[in-house]
Amino acid sequence: MSIDHRLDGEYEELRRTVEQFAHDVVAPKIGEFYEHDEFPYEIVREMGRMGLFGLPFPEECGGMGGDYFALCLALEELARVDSSVAITLEAGVSLGAMPIHRFGTEEQKRTWLPKLCSGEMLGAFGLTEPECGSDAGGTRTTARLDPETDEWVINGTKCFITNSGTDITGLVTVTAVTDRAEDGRPVISSIIVPSGTPGFTVSKKYSKVGWNASDTRELSFSDCRVPAANLLGELGRGYAQFLRILDEGRIAISALSTGLAQGCVDESLRYAKEREAFGRPIGANQAIQFKIADMEMRAHTARLAWRDAASRMLHGEPFKKEAALAKLYSSEIAVTSAREATQIHGGYGFMNEYPVARMWRDSKILEIGEGTSEVQRMLIARELGLTG
Ligand SMILES: Cc1cc2nc3c(=O)[nH]c(=O)nc-3n(C[C@H](O)[C@H](O)[C@H](O)COP(=O)(O)OP(=O)(O)OC[C@H]3O[C@@H](n4cnc5c(N)ncnc54)[C@H](O)[C@@H]3O)c2cc1C
Repeated sequence: MSIDHRLDGEYEELRRTVEQFAHDVVAPKIGEFYEHDEFPYEIVREMGRMGLFGLPFPEECGGMGGDYFALCLALEELARVDSSVAITLEAGVSLGAMPIHRFGTEEQKRTWLPKLCSGEMLGAFGLTEPECGSDAGGTRTTARLDPETDEWVINGTKCFITNSGTDITGLVTVTAVTDRAEDGRPVISSIIVPSGTPGFTVSKKYSKVGWNASDTRELSFSDCRVPAANLLGELGRGYAQFLRILDEGRIAISALSTGLAQGCVDESLRYAKEREAFGRPIGANQAIQFKIADMEMRAHTARLAWRDAASRMLHGEPFKKEAALAKLYSSEIAVTSAREATQIHGGYGFMNEYPVARMWRDSKILEIGEGTSEVQRMLIARELGLTG
């Protein structure tokens, strides 16, 4: 039994390395990319060189031999400085590469994982559609197996898909209805679609409120054909597989949210000491001190929540409820802390050149992506035995 929440040597070393990278490499450059809605290829390349995209994968697949906890530590440190690069890593690893690692055939792993782990290539996962997001079982995209060519023929549209249209995107795994059960319910499977496949169209980038240096697109499939061997995992298990991926992803989003909340503390502390009003630093006022103390309390508690969920997951214990609790709590406190940090910065907090403005804009999506706050509450209530 272990009750120590502190990090041991290797985890702490990783945390410090990523903290330094975020401070030295990301912080000075990211504002410019964000301002121009540009994907930060050079930063992502550097993250690849550091091995961040391979963190939770075994060395034989091209990974770093670490675990999901290590990934979450890296996400928290990146998001303390910037959430666009953090979500690029989160989606690349937990939505792009992880489904292939968990459910892929040996051939699929050999084909895709080395490049995904090195960060040379990004993968994406397309679940959400224009008419269904939270209710992902309502997927309308279809995939029909053509027995003559032994190919899947995919038709449909996916929306809001992260990492799906960069120059280094290599694949998107999509969920699609491959059959109907006797009671008429859709049977959903996951299929890997390589970038550039005829019939697969990537739309232009959305204009977003936040995460402006990350890539988000709508994707359409019109008689798009891929080999039958591109089925990922078992036929008809696509929905179940995706739920597992989302449970894990919630821990990662929780770590990312914690990072944003901690970044709000970092920035507010610095500003409260520097900025003077009425002849003294604004941080000398208890009203400001209490705001920052509350922000620190929230970030600390959120950190304990994601670490608890990650620890359960790594020990092979049930973690669905803890992942939902962590995601719900940390995303909501990230929004609150970003609002308070902006307030502490006064008018400068509303200027894009200040990191807190970016944090404020980036915080809202945390309550929406990878399961909205309402969905997390539904999951927690269900885990508590409440139904109906
Ligand atoms: C920047 C960005 C990146 C994204 N990246 C990806 C990605 O890489 N891959 C991917 O597949 N998706 C991605 N998404 C989609 C995201 O996961 C969905 O937007 C999210 O799951 C919510 O789905 P929705 O937008 O369809 O909202 P809806 O499901 O339509 O929900 C609308 C509102 O109704 C509420 N609601 C719905 N059902 C209930 C209920 N039963 N009870 C109470 N309230 C309910 C919701 O909580 C929400 O507040 C991304 C979205 C964004 C904005």
